[in-house]
Amino acid sequence: AKVDGRNCSRFFNDGMNRVAQERVALESALREALGDGQLCLHYQPQMFCGEGRPLYGVEALARWHHPRFGNVSPERFIPLAEECGLIGAFGEWALTEACRQLADWRSRGIAVPRVAVNLSAQNFQDVGLAVRVAACLRSYGLSPDSLTLEMTERAMLDSAEGVQTSIHAVHSLGVHLSLDDFGTGYSSLSYLHRLPMKELKLDKSFVQDLDDSPAARSLIQSVMHIGEGLGLTVVAEGVETQSQFDFLHDRSCAVVQGYLFARPMPAEQLERWLDERYP
Ligand code: C2E
Ligand code: CA
Ligand code: CA
Ligand code: CA
Repeated sequence: AKVDGRNCSRFFNDGMNRVAQERVALESALREALGDGQLCLHYQPQMFCGEGRPLYGVEALARWHHPRFGNVSPERFIPLAEECGLIGAFGEWALTEACRQLADWRSRGIAVPRVAVNLSAQNFQDVGLAVRVAACLRSYGLSPDSLTLEMTERAMLDSAEGVQTSIHAVHSLGVHLSLDDFGTGYSSLSYLHRLPMKELKLDKSFVQDLDDSPAARSLIQSVMHIGEGLGLTVVAEGVETQSQFDFLHDRSCAVVQGYLFARPMPAEQLERWLDERYP
């Protein structure tokens, strides 16, 4: 099946350089991938910091394996999808696939409390987003609080009317909203309390600088205070070392996610991981 989208290949010409040619090839490959199962989601566990580290949820991260190009990073194909008008179809695919997987786990008695799906700013511009989300949850028999939608600060600050409408409509459904990469964008604290966020994700760059940067440590502490003050769950991503974890734990960070615990992995591998970790 082909997916409709604005044609990004219009710059094609004979003198086009290799990078541009590669881009055009990648774009048409992505168009195809959406139709024929080259894309999948990997899942990374998120755990409460407390005793026994109960599972908080999993984040769904897109993976693309192309028969010829091999693995293409989402850092590369997500921006491409955004530029080529494919991000709508992509977001819909990710949402549906994550809900399908969660429903499947639950039908087999595998306890995954929630799944977090990443959406682009453009996905929130779609005024039909909340309706689509509601339909998806209904068709898989999932309650709205089983789903978290992660958005970046850029999406949140997007003044396009659709974005603000979508944010509130999705919140009204009972779906959780999470602010991703917190601290890296156009951080303006004034909007935080005006929008119906449930969760703040402390960007991994701060977590990674924690060991040798007093500035990163004090920034993290401030984020914890903000989260606490506004009643938001703070999720620290990119936790790779025990000392990073210890610091976060001592500052009563609620939830952690990172290679120290587990990498993003295919659904079946996550099932085995859960089985070993929470027998
Ligand atoms: P993100 O949402 O901030 O996701 C976190 C990234 O950090 C992921 O990279 C994850 O694999 C990686 N990560 C997790 N734990 C650690 C750690 O301990 N150390 C380090 N160094 N990295 C860690 P990934 O999977 O390559 O995704 C990159 C970005 O692509 C994501 O950043 C997100 O912005 C975007 N993305 C991925 N999947 C989707 C999707 O389905 N839709 C949209 N719109 N964007 C997506
Ligand atoms: Ca994310
Ligand atoms: Ca992030
Ligand atoms: Ca990121």
